Amino acid sequence: MEVVELFSTPEMSIYLCVLAGVLGLVMGSFLTCAAGRMVAGESFLTGRSHCDACNRELDALDLIPVLSWLFSRGRCRHCGAHLSALYPVSELVCALMYVSIVAHFGFSGTTLEYLILASVLFCVAMTDLLGYIIPNGLVLFGIGAWALLRVCFAFAGVEQPVEAITSGLVSALVISVPVLLLALVLERLRGKAALGGGDVKLLFMVGLYFSWPLALLGLFLACVIGIVIGVAGRGVLAQQGEDEAAAPAAPAAPAAPAVAAPTASPTTPAEHASPATPSTSSETAKSTTQNVEKPVSSALIPFGTAIAIAFWITICEGMQILGWYLALF
Ligand SMILES: [Zn+2]
Repeated sequence: MEVVELFSTPEMSIYLCVLAGVLGLVMGSFLTCAAGRMVAGESFLTGRSHCDACNRELDALDLIPVLSWLFSRGRCRHCGAHLSALYPVSELVCALMYVSIVAHFGFSGTTLEYLILASVLFCVAMTDLLGYIIPNGLVLFGIGAWALLRVCFAFAGVEQPVEAITSGLVSALVISVPVLLLALVLERLRGKAALGGGDVKLLFMVGLYFSWPLALLGLFLACVIGIVIGVAGRGVLAQQGEDEAAAPAAPAAPAAPAVAAPTASPTTPAEHASPATPSTSSETAKSTTQNVEKPVSSALIPFGTAIAIAFWITICEGMQILGWYLALF
C-alpha cells in the first residue's frame, strides 16, 4: 500500500480530522490571543498571557482550549473576573475550519496551503472584529507563505511555477483592483474613506490562493456577508439606542460602546469613527488603542471578517457553488 493510499482510507480520514480538530483548537487559542495583542498594540511573540483584570499570569491549566473556560465557568480562577465567551467560541470556529479543510482535501499539499490561508484569515477576522484593523503584517505573511509554497511545490514537481504564479496574480488583481477603484470613487463622492485600504490589500493576498472564478465567487460572498453583518450590527445598535432611551435617566451612567469615545463634542457616530476608519496598519492600531478608546460605530463594518468567512466557504464549497451556478445556463 502506498503512502497516499494509506492516507485515503476511511480510518485514516477520521484520524486526520480528529488531529485537525485538536490542532485547530490550539491554533484558535493562539491566534485569538495574538489578534487581541495586535489590536492592543502589543507583541504576541513575547510576554506570557495574563488576566486582563488581575494581571496574574495564566498557567497551563488556564490555557486548555474551550475546557479551561468551561471548567472555570467563564471566570478568572484568581480574581473571578468575567472572561468573554469569545474565547471558546473562536477556538471552536478555528477547529471547525481546520476539520472542514482536512475533510475536503485529505492529506495533500492543497490542505497545507488552505490551512495556512485559513489561519491568516481567522486572525484577520479576529483583529477586524475586535479592533477594526487588518494588520499589514498578516497580509504580508499570507503573501510570503503563498510565494514560499510556490517554490516548494515547484521543487516537488507538483505544479508548473510560471502557470501557478500567473494564475494567482491574475486572481489577486481581478478582485482587488475593482474594489480599490470603487473605494477611490466612493471616497471622492462622499469626501471620506468608504473602505479601509486594509480590505483591498487583504483581497489581493487572498486572491493569490485561488483561480479567478473562485476568487470572484469569494468576493461576491464577502459582499453579501458584509451587508448581512452591517444590517445586523445596525439592528443591534438601534436596539441598544432604544433601550437607553427607554431607561430612566441615570446621570453619569457608563455609555454604550457605540458612544464611548472620550471626545466630548457632539459628533455623530460616523464622525466618531472617521479617525479609525482607514486604520489598516498595526501602527495606527497602537495609536488608536492607546490614545482613544476603541471607537465602535454603526458606520463601520468589519469587512475583513466578512472576507474571511466568505473565503472559508469558497475553500470548502466554492467548486460546488460554481458548478451549480454554471448549470443554470
Ligand atoms: Zn484575574
